[in-house]
Amino acid sequence: MKTRIIIFVEIALLILVVCISSLVFDFESLGNRLLATMFNRPLCKDCNVVLVSLDTLSANRLPCYGGSHNTAPNLCKFAGENILFSNMYANSWYTLPSHVSIFTGLLSSSHGVSSSSSTLNKSIPFLPTLLQNAGYKTYFYMENHPNLPTDKVYYRGINKVNFIVRINEWETGIEQLLSDKTKKSFFFFHIWDLSFPYAKSSSIKRAMSENDKEMFEPGFGFVPNYEFTKDFYLYVTKSIQSDVAYGYFDKEIQTNPQLVNIFTSSSYESLKDKYYQEEEIHNMISSYWYKYYFKIYEEKYASNSANNKLLASKYDEKIFELDQERALLDLIKVVKGKKDTILIITSDHGEEFMEHGALTHASLYDQNTKIPLIMYIPGIEKQNIKQIAQSIDIAPTILDLVGIPFESKMFQGESLMSYILGKSKFSKKYIFTEKRGDGLPLTIRDLNYKLFLIRPPNLKYVPYELYNTSTDPGEKRNIIYSEPDVVSLLEKQVKKMYQ
Ligand SMILES: [Zn+2]
Repeated sequence: MKTRIIIFVEIALLILVVCISSLVFDFESLGNRLLATMFNRPLCKDCNVVLVSLDTLSANRLPCYGGSHNTAPNLCKFAGENILFSNMYANSWYTLPSHVSIFTGLLSSSHGVSSSSSTLNKSIPFLPTLLQNAGYKTYFYMENHPNLPTDKVYYRGINKVNFIVRINEWETGIEQLLSDKTKKSFFFFHIWDLSFPYAKSSSIKRAMSENDKEMFEPGFGFVPNYEFTKDFYLYVTKSIQSDVAYGYFDKEIQTNPQLVNIFTSSSYESLKDKYYQEEEIHNMISSYWYKYYFKIYEEKYASNSANNKLLASKYDEKIFELDQERALLDLIKVVKGKKDTILIITSDHGEEFMEHGALTHASLYDQNTKIPLIMYIPGIEKQNIKQIAQSIDIAPTILDLVGIPFESKMFQGESLMSYILGKSKFSKKYIFTEKRGDGLPLTIRDLNYKLFLIRPPNLKYVPYELYNTSTDPGEKRNIIYSEPDVVSLLEKQVKKMYQ
């Protein structure tokens, strides 16, 4: 009888301890939030920050952003349990300038990195450097690629860059995060799994491997094999010189003049022999299949809407595959198990399938510019924030959340903390998305309207399309002639920004 009483008391004590610990945690979170709200204290002082870029993820294809297919059950479950910014936009149209905007809080016309030949000026604030100066250790997990150049952009503020080719290589960073008992670590995880041709592997070379042949079967409309045809020969020899000048695709090609010479001076027959016999040449040429197939697709098949639908479904399938990736699920699980770590998931741009006459990511329509922004902040309840947000808001938000002071004029973006705390619901804000570093063409948007402008050489900006994106999210009805007041108001903001 006595033993039973002791067991009963022990169980009761255990339950009490569990209850008290959960109460302590709740108080802790409540305390953080209260202090942040009342005294502008950071929400997660000195916390670890994990920033994830799922490259080429169009928000419109995700069910939690209104997409019609269940492409990302895990990601959207995570978003539903945490913070989702439902109106998030990229400030640029492709990987390089867009990521630089994330890390500098500046538009590409201000940070100046618009092609792989540009260098990020040392005087420009750079998130990893700012974190490092505040005592953070910074770790990057990304592919070694001209669009993420370690020599021209990511050359400072980073303790270690880990080059990866597969998402499962994130696991090393996740283990590090899990075992790291000290706070103040910043991790950037990037993956390219979603880019064209939506094949099973992420890098361009692997995308051209034997495993991915199904993408190019005749039924799909692509060229059926990798034979060295005359047409491909003409394509490679014509495009290689401009690519070398542009610094694109293959660093080995750029640094090996002899190789460039072989490509540009060999006849079709001799290059064909080399393609089949010499591994080095074969590998070099392989990296051009991507562009070649894309060109063929664009020229011959892109006008066929059935083909584009099939291509879009391949993309959706890739999102679904990425959503199931063990490394992504592990990362979410590990972060949620820690009370001192913030997780931010976003992208650099979306993807389009001829909705507005362009493929992959080329235009400034929302298929390409609307991206996800999902955050986990310890102790902050789930919410869907409607205020418009943008890539250049990410850097100031991170600094604000972990309590690193900064001058707001350093960034063109703003910290999103007051929206997260519910202190502001909506504030007047204009989002610019630029096509090139010099700022032309561009779009400006507020919560309801989006204006497209172009600046012909030596002329001022000329508006040419206006959409009410809240009633016409597909940007199908150009209302530029029926809303002159809106056009004039947005034009004024453009002048203010660029003159
Ligand atoms: Zn990208």
